[in-house]
Amino acid sequence: MAPAILQLEADASSQNYVAAKQLAQSDSPSLLHRSLLEKPHRVTRASGSYLYLEDGRKILDACGGAAVAIIGHGNAEVAQAALDQMRQVSYVHTLSYTTDSAENLARSVLKPDDSGFDHGLVKAFFVGSGSEANDAAMKCARQYWYEKGQTQRRYFVSRLQGYHGNTIGAMSVSTMVGRKIPYQDILLPHVSHVSAADAYHGLKDGETEEEFTQRLISEIDAEFLRLGPENIISFMAETVVGAASGTMTAPKGYWSAVRDLCSQYGILLHLDEIMCGMGRTGTMFAFEQEGIQPDIVTIGKGLGGGYSPIAAMLINSTIVDSLRKGTSAFNHGQTYQAHPVSCATALAVQNILRRDGLLERVRCLGSKLHDMLSTTFAGCDYVGDIRGRGLFWSLEFMENKAQKSPFPREFHFGPRVQQAAFDMGVAIYPGSGAIDGLNGDHVIFAPPYTTTEEELEVAVSNVKKAYEEVVASYF
Ligand code: PLP
Repeated sequence: MAPAILQLEADASSQNYVAAKQLAQSDSPSLLHRSLLEKPHRVTRASGSYLYLEDGRKILDACGGAAVAIIGHGNAEVAQAALDQMRQVSYVHTLSYTTDSAENLARSVLKPDDSGFDHGLVKAFFVGSGSEANDAAMKCARQYWYEKGQTQRRYFVSRLQGYHGNTIGAMSVSTMVGRKIPYQDILLPHVSHVSAADAYHGLKDGETEEEFTQRLISEIDAEFLRLGPENIISFMAETVVGAASGTMTAPKGYWSAVRDLCSQYGILLHLDEIMCGMGRTGTMFAFEQEGIQPDIVTIGKGLGGGYSPIAAMLINSTIVDSLRKGTSAFNHGQTYQAHPVSCATALAVQNILRRDGLLERVRCLGSKLHDMLSTTFAGCDYVGDIRGRGLFWSLEFMENKAQKSPFPREFHFGPRVQQAAFDMGVAIYPGSGAIDGLNGDHVIFAPPYTTTEEELEVAVSNVKKAYEEVVASYF
């Protein structure tokens, strides 16, 4: 079989022409990018809130990649921590060894934040990505029941409009339909999805927020009973939904009612805070603001702030005790888990977060970002919703605001706004057709916590211009 590049070149008269040309022109034809049609921008330097491209452009990173770069780019302290760790202990296998960097990072992420909230989590397990963290958590939850002799528990209940990762396990509980296309029939069979806690789309005419919450909770209750609570491993959801729904917070009372329901039936509550955790919403964990203690939490993105590939599963003492009384080992492991350099860089990021009072900064700048978005987009005919918390905000676009009917999926309103903003020098995160069955478009702002008010103003005003450009191209 011809190498991919030759096949594409041979196919140059077809629709692959652009891909062939771009790949042929690329000086890295060996790297498989997500898209075979589009050549990504080559970044040659990154510093603070800015990315510097090979073609000379300077981009304001108003989404931290994908809500990752919480302390901005190119931090010298973090680089030094990585270098020191590489010199000291670059790698050990966790089957027999541990390191100061892994132990200290675990202590750091489990330490309560400035609010002193008791989250009840007692142990951390570090892996390389959010998807891996969720797979580890799904396996750990299953093992918890196995150790208790409840091997009939096979079901995971999660929600529509949620995203938990790209591995087979994490994708099975996700519902971003576009990402599942070739894999749908090989995903885990024992997964069920209940409605998203999405008041913007889900609230019925005349329904109060409290009634909406009650309806969602009744649906979960009914689903638990349909499956048989004794057959369910965990309820798994994002506390504030990220990419799949556009910074969607749950209605009042939802999370405490979910916690009560899970406790009532003895079902584990696993909150995925890979995108919304590590201070993104203004507290270390988003669930603190809901006043609940989950059994399992997964974190990622902001943990290493993009300086190293690292994510974690955090578990409470109930789970630890069950493992200890059972086989006394979590039956899961990976070569690069708790990697010393990844842990050292994440620890440096977390130390900066606490030392520089960045949670307080998120709360303060977050409220300013909210004000800016509300003022700038007030009265815009095609901005249906402005929602979020902390430094995690979205605009959702609607062709008809009153009827809440979105733009046609094929138009890709969200990605067009993202592209137009990028052309003006501002990076935001797009979502299009990601909202299952609702065909919606949104864009996400998730800037570094170190960003400035002036940078937020530049980001918001350029996104407004980008929005106007896209509206003009549609009508
Ligand atoms: N969970 C959530 C909520 C996410 O937003 C993501 C990534 O976007 C993941 C899990 C998967 O993380 P990763 O891409 O690091 O595997």
